[in-house]
Amino acid sequence: MKQYDVVIIGAGAAGLMCAAQAGKRGRSVLVVDNGKKPGRKILISGGGRCNFTNYDVSAANFVCRNKHFPKSALAQYSQWDFFSMVNEYGIAWEEREHGQLFCIDSAKDIVEMLLKECDLPTVEQRYRCDVHDIEKTEDGFILKLDTDTVSCQSLVVATGGLSMPKLGATPFGYQIAEQFGLARIPTTAGLVPFTLHDKDKAAFADLSGIAIPVTITTESGVLFKENLLFTHRGLSGPVVLQVSSYWTPGEKVEVNLLPDLDVVETINAMRDKHPAQSLKNSLARLLPKRLVEAMIERGDIQDKPLKQLNPKDITALGDYLHQWRIAPNGTEGYRTAEVTLGGVDTDELSSKTMETKKVPGLYFVGEVMDVSGWLGGYNFQWAWSSGWVAGQHV
Ligand code: FAD
Repeated sequence: MKQYDVVIIGAGAAGLMCAAQAGKRGRSVLVVDNGKKPGRKILISGGGRCNFTNYDVSAANFVCRNKHFPKSALAQYSQWDFFSMVNEYGIAWEEREHGQLFCIDSAKDIVEMLLKECDLPTVEQRYRCDVHDIEKTEDGFILKLDTDTVSCQSLVVATGGLSMPKLGATPFGYQIAEQFGLARIPTTAGLVPFTLHDKDKAAFADLSGIAIPVTITTESGVLFKENLLFTHRGLSGPVVLQVSSYWTPGEKVEVNLLPDLDVVETINAMRDKHPAQSLKNSLARLLPKRLVEAMIERGDIQDKPLKQLNPKDITALGDYLHQWRIAPNGTEGYRTAEVTLGGVDTDELSSKTMETKKVPGLYFVGEVMDVSGWLGGYNFQWAWSSGWVAGQHV
């Protein structure tokens, strides 16, 4: 039986980072992945340009039941550390809005960089390889693989979340947690578009492709300000993806369709200047015309000349446009989600090393645990940080 110091299950962002770090420490490492190549999610991320980190990262950018948990790993291996590595490898990058850092050429640059980091005599990689059984021994683990059985002192679970099943996502990491009696936070799709109830879907069907800057607030008071995109299934765009990670089924969200102006003041000014102008045409100067028409067709807004609006009407219009409440029917689910909320309970793990408290030598890194980042490079930063710290301790 071949013996390794470390076996890492999953050659994604966190697994490759961990492998490189452990290998550099002289640990013999085997990385196994059931897919045919490494870093498949990295390759498709950020529209093929990988939003690899963000200028501004703190624990506040993560959804985790223990909001302090991400702090230690993010401090030990920060966005600046990863950014330095990207620069050392001469990868061309650009900053986009909200401090998001993307590759200029291709996400392949990031995968190639990680593979070069893993190109060490100590690191072996196997693809299209399944793990059939894991057994705990006194001083480590025995793993039954497709072709042979191997042993290791440290086992790192880096199998990611459930999003994008067609890219090979599996619940294997959660099954390992279950095997070892570790608690899990129920998983759901995060960073995912909302679907709408049939009535709303029909009303907004013609708006597909329209994007507007809005703020959305959840019932729990979480607010994001970014673009909302109407789609043929429902609502998407960065603001919806962000809010979806804080939304609970059955809840309404409150959309401020005109966050940068005061509707009452603006309509009053328009009425003074053009009293005969219709409300529809007036609002079409502030919002996409098709959206205004849809709201009139739904009966949410009554079209009439501005001079016929009394102060109560204008206040009600302001309330409606600043606090448009809509109840999503659900989300598009793991099929299109960028991330999985929930996972291995962080109470089971050391925040300094990612080792489980109950099973010495067993580590979880990356998305498989209950740490999910906002849109904007945070999920990869978590993969780099958690993978790096585990790599120092395995
Ligand atoms: P993964 O990168 O998912 O790696 C897990 C690995 O484990 C995979 O290689 C998989 O094949 C392997 N595996 C799974 N099950 C098994 C098994 N049973 N046996 C063996 N191997 C197994 N985040 C950002 O920060 N910026 C972005 O631009 C961004 N864009 C995204 C775009 C899309 C479309 C998606 C879906 C996600 C995006 N994300 C982005 C999120 C980011 O990709 C993940 O959070 C990140 O990849 C998690 O890293 P990980 O190493 O934990 O898991």
